[in-house]
Amino acid sequence: QARRTAGVDKNLWVEFTQLAADYKPVNLGQGFPDFSPPQFVQDAFCKAVCGGPSMHQYTRAFGHPPLVKSLAKFFSRIVGCEIDPLEDVLVTVGAYQALFCAFQALVDEGDEVIIIEPFFDCYQPMVKMTGGKAVYVPLRPKVKGSSIPSSGDWVLSAEELASKITARTKAIVINTPNNPIGKVYKTEELQMIADLCIKHNMLCISDEVYEWLTYDGAKHVKIASLPGMWERTITVGSAGKTFSATGWKVGWAIGSGNIMKHLKTIHQNTVYHCATAAQEAVAQGFEREYELFGTPESYFQQLPAMLHLKRKKLASCLEGVGLQPVMPEGGYFMIADISSFSFLTEVDFNDESTKDEPPDFRFVKWLTKEKGLGTIPVSAFYSPEHSKEFDKYIRFCFVKEDSTLDAAEDILRKWS
Ligand code: PMP
Ligand code: GLN
Repeated sequence: QARRTAGVDKNLWVEFTQLAADYKPVNLGQGFPDFSPPQFVQDAFCKAVCGGPSMHQYTRAFGHPPLVKSLAKFFSRIVGCEIDPLEDVLVTVGAYQALFCAFQALVDEGDEVIIIEPFFDCYQPMVKMTGGKAVYVPLRPKVKGSSIPSSGDWVLSAEELASKITARTKAIVINTPNNPIGKVYKTEELQMIADLCIKHNMLCISDEVYEWLTYDGAKHVKIASLPGMWERTITVGSAGKTFSATGWKVGWAIGSGNIMKHLKTIHQNTVYHCATAAQEAVAQGFEREYELFGTPESYFQQLPAMLHLKRKKLASCLEGVGLQPVMPEGGYFMIADISSFSFLTEVDFNDESTKDEPPDFRFVKWLTKEKGLGTIPVSAFYSPEHSKEFDKYIRFCFVKEDSTLDAAEDILRKWS
């Protein structure tokens, strides 16, 4: 066993996907839609698969040419600079591999990487596997009056962040809209992070897989579009999240060619390239979206419009049963505070197998096994040093058919 595998052997998704397979709950756990991708990308995939021999063979290592061209064209308009399809874009096996390439290519042994909590769990093992050290800074919920808590209340202290930067700090990882709380960073918050990146010569790895999913006027801003940040930002995206096709595993990293060439080195020596037909279909999807951008027919308008309603539906269900939700400004997850759940005191966690686990893990397992509802514990998105402060929340995924959300509501209402 190589040393790099030590301490990273446990995986949240492996564990909770298995639990869902074993108990078959109504599944608001792992983040994936239980409905099909839009017809136009399904058709594009079918056309690609039936489109002759080349679609079944290798394509360009760093991205199928039509896909890197459409990504560059699409994102040039958003970032506000000319993105070179051949230099500045790398297509990967999902956003996961884009993140892996970024950490492997840029972080050396002993380097420090700042991670803002709560964070998508894979950042921590990925930093560990480089030999680098993860340094954590939590978003802290502002104490407010009576209004409904929102992910916008969870804020980063500039002083606390600055205090964590050392001569070894190589990069900061941000995720907007955030998984699990749904925070959409405001321009001022991104500017504060950008100022520190520039001042301390840090790179920024910006995970933007939920970039199209914002609600109630929240606006997704790319940190790469702020002055001086294109040169030091790697922006990560996912066709799985963009087109509701998580199983296709097409993702990308976009950044300045002089940084991207190092990610390409990792990619060419590990995965080499990604499935051709899936890349072709995603390219067609982006071509369509380029033409329809900003119109009501755009999927990037339709998906958030649909999710806006599902978010409202889930929030009122949770409020109705005494699980106070934190309203997400973006993404497709919602966390809820379980500490005031009237049933919690009555719940008999008489489950020996979970007795040493944090309360949110125990609750989620009990809910799955005994009540048939799958969710995810939020302390899993924290470092061990801060997880105790945040072990009273569970995460619900709402990118689900209304019938699935109704079934979850039925389960919750039975006890209220
Ligand atoms: N980043 C975040 C924040 C995620 O929630 C996910 C899960 N989809 C990923 C990255 C990985 O994305 P992909 O499925 O494209 O590998
Ligand atoms: N990103 C998804 C989530 O947060 C799924 C991650 C995974 O399955 N590894 O639920």
